[in-house]
Amino acid sequence: LGSGKLASYIPELARADPSKFALVLRSVDGHVVRSGHAEEPFTFQSVSKVFTFCYLLSTGGDAILDQMPCEPSGDAFHSIVRLEDEHGHPRNPYINAGAIMVSDRLRGSNAKDKIDGFVDFLRALSEGERLQVDERVYASEFATGNRNRALAHYMNHYGLIDDPAMAVDTYFRQCSLTLDTARLARIGLFLANRGRDPETDHRVLTEDHNRTAVALMATCGLYDEVGRYAIRVGVPSKSGVSGPILAVVPGRMTIAAYSPELGPKGNSVAGMTALTVLSKRLRLSVFG
Ligand code: GLU
Repeated sequence: LGSGKLASYIPELARADPSKFALVLRSVDGHVVRSGHAEEPFTFQSVSKVFTFCYLLSTGGDAILDQMPCEPSGDAFHSIVRLEDEHGHPRNPYINAGAIMVSDRLRGSNAKDKIDGFVDFLRALSEGERLQVDERVYASEFATGNRNRALAHYMNHYGLIDDPAMAVDTYFRQCSLTLDTARLARIGLFLANRGRDPETDHRVLTEDHNRTAVALMATCGLYDEVGRYAIRVGVPSKSGVSGPILAVVPGRMTIAAYSPELGPKGNSVAGMTALTVLSKRLRLSVFG
């Protein structure tokens, strides 16, 4: 704690309390271990990208996979540089360009409809609770999100996005949904259980789609720090600029970590450190 920096390019994120830290483990056979500020709220940010992607796959939207090579980008999450070389095709669904393309394809005739459908999808995974948009963070993203607008318009030029304004509005709203570390570990549990929620027995994704979503976490989930993270932690994970990291240990558990101060690549410093220690002690690395 104390060695990273709060994200400030979305001004509202700089209001987070840097002393907060939480770690929650939830196993597929029903054990929950919580420590720290497990109910401190934060916004979903990039971790939402995994869930909108899963939601799209669950509603028959897998044609999107033909339009993405599904490779790590090696660039920052909001980079536009590769889109020019690659004719508007985003590398994967977990960078901003790819996630905005996913948002464009969610069902609904406006951003609010699309988010309502997404919130219903999440509700089935979180004991009936509806996540709410943090209006201040949403307004802050809306006011400052011109790089994301540029990505959307660029993809629209190549006919890959239908409605750039609606796509980014949907994306800003999904990033601004509020949850906490305990809930994050809960909603991700199906990812650790071949696509089936172990607590309700509800099939969320087919096994193939689940494998796709989790494999992309392992290869594209930690921005351009994913290689070093694979060495240190070795568990498919997704981070967000508000400070969460969701780790999925296939067949066993989810681990959600939270601390809002970020390192130079945009990942939670304390979250990564905790996951490194835990992975080593519990021998969790899938590369072990
Ligand atoms: N809403 C953020 C953005 O688009 C999400 C970034 C992130 O968490 O990586 O910049």
